[in-house]
Amino acid sequence: MLMVFTGNGKGKTTAAMGVALRAAGQGLKTLMIQFIKGSWHYGELDSAPMLGGAFEIRPMGRGFVKVGTEKPDPEDVRLVAEAWNAAVEAMLADTYDMLILDEVNYAIHYGMLSIDRVLTDLAARPERLHVICTGRNAHPRLIEAADLVSEIKEIKHPFHKGILAQRGIDY
Ligand code: ATP
Ligand code: MG
Repeated sequence: MLMVFTGNGKGKTTAAMGVALRAAGQGLKTLMIQFIKGSWHYGELDSAPMLGGAFEIRPMGRGFVKVGTEKPDPEDVRLVAEAWNAAVEAMLADTYDMLILDEVNYAIHYGMLSIDRVLTDLAARPERLHVICTGRNAHPRLIEAADLVSEIKEIKHPFHKGILAQRGIDY
């Protein structure tokens, strides 16, 4: 299965982690590669090892990406390329049952990763490997290729009334 969790509401990454939690109970092994995260210490980095090797998380970003400029920062492009190489390596190694590409949609959307490359590599993955791509603005061609696509729509977010990220909910 190729799954995509997109949309501008909160819950894309946590939905993917929910699937990993469920899969662990079924004896499946998940790797989550985080394309953007890298600086903050998220709770899941400590809880994943509690599943005894069934859920591995690899933060490979630097926590944020500079946007607004015309071209993406070369350092961000380099980190994204590294993360994608790690994803391909994991696909070829065939040691995982599920691969979560957290915020990969974001990297594609901002032109840091080519959609052609993503689709070609995903098409060549082992048949048994489930993949979940998260992040806003999922590319139309990724949506087309996917078996399951869910869009999380924001109805309300506490951020808009000035409430900052909450421990255990956002990190
Ligand atoms: P989560 O990791 O909590 O499942 P997410 O993956 O859906 O969230 P991202 O776009 O990755 O959302 O953003 C992660 C952070 O931004 C989280 O702290 C989240 O609470 C916050 N966030 C998500 N959606 C919104 C929103 N619509 N407005 C403000 N902040 C948001
Ligand atoms: Mg996310």
